[in-house]
Amino acid sequence: MVYFIPYRIHIGRNSKNERKLSRDESRIPKMKIIGLCGGSGSGKSTVAAIFAAAGVPVLDADAIYHEMISKSSPCTKEIAEALGNEVLTPEGALDRPKTAELVFSGEGSEERRKKLNAITHRYILDEVRRRIAEEEKKGTFAVLFDAPLLFESGFENECNAIICVSADENVRLSRIVQRDGIDRETARLRFATQFSDNYLISHSDYHIANNGDTEELTEKVEGIVRKILSEK
Ligand code: ATP
Repeated sequence: MVYFIPYRIHIGRNSKNERKLSRDESRIPKMKIIGLCGGSGSGKSTVAAIFAAAGVPVLDADAIYHEMISKSSPCTKEIAEALGNEVLTPEGALDRPKTAELVFSGEGSEERRKKLNAITHRYILDEVRRRIAEEEKKGTFAVLFDAPLLFESGFENECNAIICVSADENVRLSRIVQRDGIDRETARLRFATQFSDNYLISHSDYHIANNGDTEELTEKVEGIVRKILSEK
């Protein structure tokens, strides 16, 4: 938990104090980009909050997406061009129930889903890259990208380290039911289009099994934060 903040002082911007530290710029590694993946209800947001508490800025793919589609934007316009104007509300935001209907049911839904994903991934990743560049300018040492669709978007290739958080299906179902107030069957449907835990774990550098309580999770995450941040 305490590793990040003191180090950050060393890589802050120009100041007299900093000069006294007689840094060797060439030995300071470039910013680390950590990708975080895992199925729905596995605990990604909870892990991200622990990283944030340790001083690592978090980029949240879901939050960026919701921001982009909640109003008329280049992203919503491009989605409408691909799927038709009926996916927009009168204000130009994305009509999510209508879009879900089009991409999850009916003939050609898979094709429409692919088109939608290609557009949204591109806009989300452009925004993520822009925010990463901003953090890099500030001298930030590491950022965490909370990305449920990390591998589907291809962004795993731009990460220095990948963490997968997992939990048993029953545990995930109970958490989602409680968090979102939906029934187990609806919750189970979310798992159908996601990569399996086996795939995610085998393609990640770190794996956090999150079947226990939050104390246990915090301990595991802090161990990984220390490890990643101390790696050159
Ligand atoms: P989604 O992809 O669906 O957004 P997620 O992977 O981000 O899910 P979280 O929102 O972090 O998952 O966790 C799901 C729910 O489970 C939340 O309400 C969270 O508070 C709770 N939770 C996560 N980990 C634990 C834990 N170790 N102990 C108890 N509750 C937990």
